[in-house]
Amino acid sequence: MTGYIIAVCSSCGGYLLAKNSQKTRTCPYCGSKVVLGKAKKVAFAETANEASLLLRKLKEKAAKSEGLSFKGDFKKSH
Ligand SMILES: [Zn+2]
Repeated sequence: MTGYIIAVCSSCGGYLLAKNSQKTRTCPYCGSKVVLGKAKKVAFAETANEASLLLRKLKEKAAKSEGLSFKGDFKKSH
């Protein structure tokens, strides 16, 4: 059975979508190679569709929460 995981890049903190069977994944944000076995995993999904939905929710949550140092220029009022 193939599942999907959402892992956190150890270099930039971005969320990565990967197949459970994959051992490494290149981070789409910073380009570093992430060893999935060592990476922090935040979600599991059965299908690619479910995984991408989860990923989107996680990104929305991250964008909303304050105090997270994301690379993007989120303009905050303070
Ligand atoms: Zn990264």
